[in-house]
Order: sequence, then structure tokens, then C-alpha cells
Amino acid sequence: MQKFNQIFGEGKHPIRTFFAPGRVNLIGDHIDYNGGMVLPAAIHLGISAQVRERDDQIIRMRSNISEKRIEIDLTKAVEYNESAGWGNYPMGVIRLLQMTKMPIKGVDILFDSTLPVGSGLSSSAAIEVLTGYVLMTLAGYEVDRVAMALLCQKAENEFVGVNCGIMDQFAVAMGKAQHAIQLNCQTLDYQHIPFNIEGFKIVIMNSNKERELAASAYNERRASCEKALALIREKHDVPNLCEAEFPMIMECVKDPVLLSRARHVWWENQYVHEAIEALQDGDWQTLGESMDASHLSLTNDYEVSCDELDFLVDAARSVTGCVGARMTGAGFGGCVVALVHEEAINDFAEYVKKQYHKSTNLDTDIYVCEIVNGVEER
Ligand code: ADP
Ligand code: MG
Repeated sequence: MQKFNQIFGEGKHPIRTFFAPGRVNLIGDHIDYNGGMVLPAAIHLGISAQVRERDDQIIRMRSNISEKRIEIDLTKAVEYNESAGWGNYPMGVIRLLQMTKMPIKGVDILFDSTLPVGSGLSSSAAIEVLTGYVLMTLAGYEVDRVAMALLCQKAENEFVGVNCGIMDQFAVAMGKAQHAIQLNCQTLDYQHIPFNIEGFKIVIMNSNKERELAASAYNERRASCEKALALIREKHDVPNLCEAEFPMIMECVKDPVLLSRARHVWWENQYVHEAIEALQDGDWQTLGESMDASHLSLTNDYEVSCDELDFLVDAARSVTGCVGARMTGAGFGGCVVALVHEEAINDFAEYVKKQYHKSTNLDTDIYVCEIVNGVEER
């Protein structure tokens, strides 16, 4: 409260606290845009917002990651502004809420984050969904979480200009403690699956490698998948690449690069289904094997891994008690997710940190995850 008043001055309304989690995708990467299934979970690392209403039409925002203070006049249409930097993420959400004619209140917001930024744990979706939830709640709306996730995705796509799928915003809005979310990105059908694999924890390792190539490679991979699908559709009636049968892919896609991209998509979708079944059965062995297989496919066929991620996966898998590990997210940096027995975690962390530093000269941050609820007031 003291910090809040230091930044924004005194005010007569109470300060309320909200929290939005980040998310980790346990399995199913680069298949959201191919009609496949993903399996994310909301994690205890996230962004909190301290919020105090104002009696005018001004929104002021500050964040712990930047000195830049954002100020918005709600009587005008919010516009994208390069120099606002991080502010464009919440501003995009505010703009879309303006367009829906929701009566937004003036407010001061102080963001504070435990979530690494730009590491593939969805800090962008967290700040978007947090902003949307705060403003809708203050306006007195019963929040429709799926609609809000879609609105935030639209803000990132159209206002910020990042062509992301729906998984991140959905997981941040719809997370449930101790559950993973099985999500069909095309239909938005979803199911919460209890994550209770006796004795095992989800462990995240941040490679701390810049994801320079990620954006261009992402667009390139998407284009390859579209091409492969178009070739298949010349002969077969299929809605998306995940629903093409494997023999159709072999028959129609002859270019070796396109073929390996399509092969990843097909197999990754199988691994997700395998993993979901294993999770439901509490079968850690099969879950771990699916994760391992997924990483190989992302490395060899989809070619979106990098040395740093491969080092982390190898180091993780060489520790007894780690039963599966894979890169997670778009690739070329970001994080690795592993399934590790809780009794092995201390040794695991020590070993992986040491090995990673030795081979890359980078330091990894290791997080033992709790799966938490989606965005909420705390
Ligand atoms: P991620 O994988 O973390 O979602 P992105 O590149 O999609 O990576 O989004 C990162 C951007 O989101 C940051 O550059 C910043 O603009 C914004 N952002 C994330 N966390 C915060 C925060 N705590 N405060 C302000 N802006 C944030
Ligand atoms: Mg993001």
C-alpha cells in the first residue's frame, strides 16, 4: 500500500488485489493452429495487480518491469503507441472493451510480477487477462471467462500485432487448481483433468536464451502446414492437418521439409491424446514417454528446438526421478517442462543448473510448479 501511494498518491477508495497466473503447456506444441489438442495448466508464477478506483476517466498503470508510467484518457479511443512499450498489452484490452461499449471506470493499477517475461510462460496473456478481468469486475460485470479470453487474444492479434493462438489467454482465464486443461483450440471444447500423479511434480527450467528466431520461424512453420494441408485437400476432404490420416500425408506431401512438418503435427496430436489418457490413469511412465517423444518430434521433424533447450532436456532426463522432459512453447529459447519425482527435485535442480552452465555458459532458473486457478481477486 505504501508503494502504491508513493507511486499514485493518496486516494479515497480501497485498494483491491487481483492475480493472473502464467501457464505452461504440458504437451501439444505447434498444433493449436492445425486443429489439434493442447494440455496447458495455470501456474503459481503470475502477475498481481493492486487496483484503486478513481472518480474520473483516467487509467494510470505502472509495472515492476519498467519505469514507464502509462496514462490513458478513457474519453478518447485508445490508440497503439510504440513508445508505450509494455503498455500496449493492457491498452489493447482497454481498446476492445471500449469498442464493446462497456462502461470502464478510471483506475490506478500497479502490476507486480513473479513470471519471467518473454520466456514462453505467457506473461503477455497474463497481463491482458488480468487487465480485462479487473476492468470488467470494477464495471460490475459477471465475467464470461471464455469470452474474455477471446477478447484478449483479439487484442494481442490486432492491437499489439502478435499472431498468437487462443491457448495462452484461455489457460490464464480458465485455469483450475490441481488440474490441467485439455483444450481443442478450434472448437474451444475443454475439460479440466485432475493432475494427481502420486509423488510427481511439474518442473520448469527457463533456458534464459533470447527467442530471436521464434517469430519468423513461427510464421514459416504455419505457412508450411498450410501448404501441406492444401496438397492433401487436392485429393481428400479434411478440415485440418491434425485430422488428416497418416497415409494421406504420405501420399500427398512429397517435399521432404513439408513432409517432416506434417509428420510432427500428426504425431504430436497422437502424443497429446496419449498423455491425456495417461494423466487420467495416473500413469506417469506413459505421460513421461509422451513428453520425450514430443520433444524429439519438435527437434527432428519440426526443427524448432535449439541447443540450449536440448541440453536442458538431456540434463533433466539423465537424472533418476525425472521421467519425461520436453521444450514447451514456440521454441528457439524459452522453457523446458519436466515431470520429476518430488524426492529427486533437489538433486535434479543442482545437477541441471551445473550441467547447463557448463555447456552453455547460461544460467537456468528452475521452478517447481503448483497448478493454480485462473485469474481471480485475492
Ligand atoms: P511471453 O512468452 O512471456 O508471453 P511475449 O513476448 O508474448 O512473451 O510477451 C512479453 C511482453 O508482455 C513483455 O515484453 C511486456 O510488454 C508484456 N509484459 C509481460 N509481463 C509484464 C509485466 N509484469 N508488466 C508489464 N508488461 C508485461
Ligand atoms: Mg505471449
